[in-house]
Amino acid sequence: MTPFPREDYRALSRYLPDRRPVPVDLSDNTNLWGTHPDALQAIREAGPDHLARYPSLYADELRAAVSRRFGVPEEHVCTGCGSDDILDAAFRAAAGPGGLVRWADPTFSMLEPLCRMNGREPGPVGWGEALEDPAALLAGDPVVVYVCRPNNPTGHVAPRAWMNALLRLTRDRGADAPLVIVDEAYADFSGDSLVAEAPGLHRTLVVRTLSKAYGLAGLRAGWGAGPTEVIDEVEKARGPYKVGRLAGAAAVAAVDDVGGWVERTVAECQECRSALIEALEARGLEPLPSGANFVLVPVARAPTEKALALRERGVAVRPFPGERTADGAAKATPQPLPDALRVTVGPWPLMERFLGALDDLRAADPDAWAGAPRPVWLPGATP
Ligand SMILES: *Cc1c(COP(=O)(O)O)cnc(C)c1O
Repeated sequence: MTPFPREDYRALSRYLPDRRPVPVDLSDNTNLWGTHPDALQAIREAGPDHLARYPSLYADELRAAVSRRFGVPEEHVCTGCGSDDILDAAFRAAAGPGGLVRWADPTFSMLEPLCRMNGREPGPVGWGEALEDPAALLAGDPVVVYVCRPNNPTGHVAPRAWMNALLRLTRDRGADAPLVIVDEAYADFSGDSLVAEAPGLHRTLVVRTLSKAYGLAGLRAGWGAGPTEVIDEVEKARGPYKVGRLAGAAAVAAVDDVGGWVERTVAECQECRSALIEALEARGLEPLPSGANFVLVPVARAPTEKALALRERGVAVRPFPGERTADGAAKATPQPLPDALRVTVGPWPLMERFLGALDDLRAADPDAWAGAPRPVWLPGATP
């Protein structure tokens, strides 16, 4: 065996979505109302020490801000260079090389790469099967179980009773329980969160990001909450100095949200989300119910071509080929999505730009742009 490169990294590649600049970018679920004004102010007020000196080892200021805002004691909060960094550290903290990772599929596209990067065995379970019985996610003694709630890319929120049942099953397993990761990247938009109860949950980590509702994707900061046994192991696996001083100062100002900017833009986003869903339904399409800042719209076929056609009209959305991967191979996922487009919800003028481009394309070729039915396994959108 050659020592370099790693044999098990063969299936890994760089993450390269279409990121060419476009006038209206509805492809990456960032906050299209801009960034948090208090975070920007904190950066403007920064002095030389913000750059010359190391930050605190484990982002104490950000942990304190999270504690103030969410009522979770600091020792129950971990942080990272984006929530991806926390997920990565949690994967490493959960067990040594090998070991199964289960998740309800389809979900966050980073899951499979995260498994490969950490030498884990990917074990997707279809959402339908998982929702029928959460025990499906514990089959085969996984070391990690991941649930995205609200889920990316579908936008649905797994019902609270179902989530509680999974957490009960985890507690029943005691010392043999996997680490359950609940990714709440979009929880600000659904209003339902496990953060407040996270300290008392068994072997569970609730992960939040500043990249979406807080408008700070460029900053790279995230945090997690859970019992101290979990928090301590994740912080050890992640290592010190991951949140830079400047990023930390801006993140603190945003989490404090003194002027209520997050609340205001989230409320506006929820209104635009309802209006967008209505507008799509009025056109005979069947967008999925969403608790997030995006809407998934099933289309009859060829989502990648459709996304390119929209891009030519100045609007970027993210295509999700259902049963095929981007290079045309059949997907191994147990319950594939229908072919679909994921549209980030932004201020209404941007939604009008999207709907205008869509209408042009639909008028030119109504058959190609026909909708497709929602998947049958979808639960109600609200917990
Ligand atoms: C965008 C997103 C994140 C955020 O990742 P960061 O590294 O914090 O920017 C995490 N989870 C999901 C499901 C996401 O869609």
